[in-house]
Amino acid sequence: MAGTSGSDAPKYFEIPFFESVNQNFDKAAVLLHHPKGLLDQIRACNSVYYMQFPVRIKGDIQVISAWRAEHSHHKLPCKGGIRYSENVNQDEVIALSALMTYKCAVVNVPFGGGKGGIKINPRNYNEDELERITRRYTVELIHKNFIGPSVDVPAPDYGTGAREMAWIADTYQTFAGNEIDALACVTGKPIPQGGVRGRTEATGRGLFFGVRETLNDIDVMKKLGMPVGMDGKTVIVQGFGNVGFHAAKFLQEGGAIITGIIEWDGAVVNPKGIDVMALDAHRKSTGSITNFPGSTTIKEGNSVLEYECDILVPSALESQITDRNAPNIKAKIIAEGANGPIVASAENTLLSKGILIIPDMYLNAGGVVVSYFEWLKNISHVRFGRMDKRFEESGNLRLVSVVERMTGKSLTLEEKNLLVRGADEEDLVNSGLEDSMITAYHEIMDIWKSRENVKDMRTAAFISAIDKIAMSYFQMGIFP
Ligand code: NAD
Repeated sequence: MAGTSGSDAPKYFEIPFFESVNQNFDKAAVLLHHPKGLLDQIRACNSVYYMQFPVRIKGDIQVISAWRAEHSHHKLPCKGGIRYSENVNQDEVIALSALMTYKCAVVNVPFGGGKGGIKINPRNYNEDELERITRRYTVELIHKNFIGPSVDVPAPDYGTGAREMAWIADTYQTFAGNEIDALACVTGKPIPQGGVRGRTEATGRGLFFGVRETLNDIDVMKKLGMPVGMDGKTVIVQGFGNVGFHAAKFLQEGGAIITGIIEWDGAVVNPKGIDVMALDAHRKSTGSITNFPGSTTIKEGNSVLEYECDILVPSALESQITDRNAPNIKAKIIAEGANGPIVASAENTLLSKGILIIPDMYLNAGGVVVSYFEWLKNISHVRFGRMDKRFEESGNLRLVSVVERMTGKSLTLEEKNLLVRGADEEDLVNSGLEDSMITAYHEIMDIWKSRENVKDMRTAAFISAIDKIAMSYFQMGIFP
């Protein structure tokens, strides 16, 4: 490992985050028959770069700490977000990069896991300062070969978004000279800078597909004693950021009732349901979700994690459900939108209460699936649907004309448009995402349902990931 250790683990961890990930890995690994050396290699973090660099802030020089971890090089490029948070530390970045390795394997995305972090509170900096920090971080990554379309491809995470990704892409392009695929160095970019339609909402949409698939699984619902389907299921969401907002929006559109939303400065609850779009508008106009008309504000926001509901969606940060609050959780399903929201030691408490945990490495993989599509778009230099949309439409039109002629009936213009319309980029991205989430769900469930010694969905997901990564090593001929 390069660099020094950033061992300032935040106090909210009961055990170090990477250890927590590895405990879950080990729980699955003992059920498999792979050589010990191979399992050690899969679980180890291949490289981590710790950097400190100066940035001019308000006339002074500030030294910024940052990391980039590449957990696994079994497939390249590495892939994973960059987060801006005062709590970022080396253990967290490595743990999140490990989760990315397993996540990519679970949803059949051909990347290794990576993760980056800058130890800042973005609220303390203006836009110019954030741009300087982001560009300087990118230059550090370039110098150490920790970024590039075939090496390591960052994406947004907690505290970052399309704006930061655009700065990274521009900095990389400036240094890359004539590299034709330079734009593929980062995903989650704005559309005019090579982004793909559907990326912003991809993680929340993917979560929706995963929850929908679970709620439609007759065996699982029978075990939980719940009626099949999403209609009328009550949901509490922690974190109203990119993942939480979109998850809440799609779940509500799918028929669920959002009874609580938790943010850092308080929560809002309403047993009859919260209008997600209206809450978003309220937050935009007041700066907070609290005091939303028609709902009750709870000052101690995280106490709402313990409220009665069918589905709890932690989508803020890791280590939110710990040994302290796990005994009080009343949800029947925990749908992990965030990475690592449940500490490993609290998991048994939840499982023994019969709670179904839909694991992060599957459920929040929508972002990396669509990032993969963005990367494919960037290296193929063509928008999805550009070659075939019109061709598909003219074929559909011919079919409609034949049906009209044969039946002697004319369709309305609205009906015709509906039948004729060819798939555009967003349609194709959403369809690819839906297919990826459904396929991965059934791969995990086949393992869970067919092996008696697999007791929970996370272990089944780990088995799915470990087997696929092991296969890559076997194919490389590294392990006999
Ligand atoms: P974000 O910054 O857009 O949103 C996070 C939200 O959580 C913010 O609104 C923040 O105010 C809120 N929050 C912070 N502390 C809180 C607390 N103690 N209680 C309640 N709310 C709190 O970040 P995001 O991109 O939505 O990421 C959230 C989580 O999802 C992270 O764990 C991230 O690693 C994971 N994730 C994100 C993506 C993605 O595509 N963005 C993909 C996979 C996983």
